[in-house]
Amino acid sequence: MKLGAIEAGGTKFVCAVGNEYGEVFEKTTIPTESPQITMPKVYDFFAGKGVERMGIGSFGPIDLDENGDSYGTIQKTPKIDWVDFPLAGEIRKNLGVPVVVDTDVNVAALSESQWGNAKDADSCLYITVGTGVGAGAVVNGTTLKGLSHPEMGHIVVKRHENDEFTGICPYHGDCLEGMASGPAIEKRWGKAGKDLSGDPAVWEMEAHYLAQALVSYIYILSPERIVMGGGVMQQEHLFGLIRKNVMDMLGGYVSSPKLDADHINEYIVPPGLTNEAGIKGALALAKK
Ligand code: ADP
Ligand code: ZN
Repeated sequence: MKLGAIEAGGTKFVCAVGNEYGEVFEKTTIPTESPQITMPKVYDFFAGKGVERMGIGSFGPIDLDENGDSYGTIQKTPKIDWVDFPLAGEIRKNLGVPVVVDTDVNVAALSESQWGNAKDADSCLYITVGTGVGAGAVVNGTTLKGLSHPEMGHIVVKRHENDEFTGICPYHGDCLEGMASGPAIEKRWGKAGKDLSGDPAVWEMEAHYLAQALVSYIYILSPERIVMGGGVMQQEHLFGLIRKNVMDMLGGYVSSPKLDADHINEYIVPPGLTNEAGIKGALALAKK
């Protein structure tokens, strides 16, 4: 079956034609400007290609209530041109195909669980640590959503004893994203994360925040695998620090062999899919 996939991000829309096996036949990248400029280019790319269904992994917040009138409508985003834009509805109208939409992080979790580093697990949590911090989850092949979509990047975290940084989340100040995103690292230390590789204090503090978040996710969701991606996780040494902090913070409370010193390396892992995770996940979504 020919499927369409869109990875709708804050800086670019990646559009692709592929199939239910995650194979990508053709792909293009369109800059994210206003909907009036960007969307006609999206419709042009897909026109006449015989796509039967469309999957979209989108930046958010976005309405995911399949039974509501505003399914797939962008909500209160800082990208004001896109506020209230009915992304799924307009695509359905212009291309005449059913559209399935989910958050970018849920789609990444779906992709990892179908084709990436969580394909042997029944549930998986995907967290990105980049410009923002966000996480999505898949349980038995289905992404997690409800009232809205999860906002796991904005949980409360306990401050590190040496940290006086006030945080940069416009809504909460010192929530997880406010303390641990790429821009938070840059603001706190006066340099971008990639230029701080050799400074252990930076990464010890970063691991303190991210490990607290993982411990909360483990307690609440009990995922069988945690995949960590995004620009900040390019610091590969961070994985070891996070795994150690997670084990210390759990204090042996959750009994699972997956969480012991011999197996934690296979529990908290980098992504298995790099460039095409978003697009492949959107294809997986489209086939549902
Ligand atoms: P986005 O979240 O916008 O999709 P990324 O996942 O690439 O994009 O995240 C960008 C953030 O990651 C920036 O704040 C950047 O400083 C940070 N970052 C990128 N590369 C590295 C690196 N090698 N080490 C630490 N931080 C990095
Ligand atoms: Zn916040």
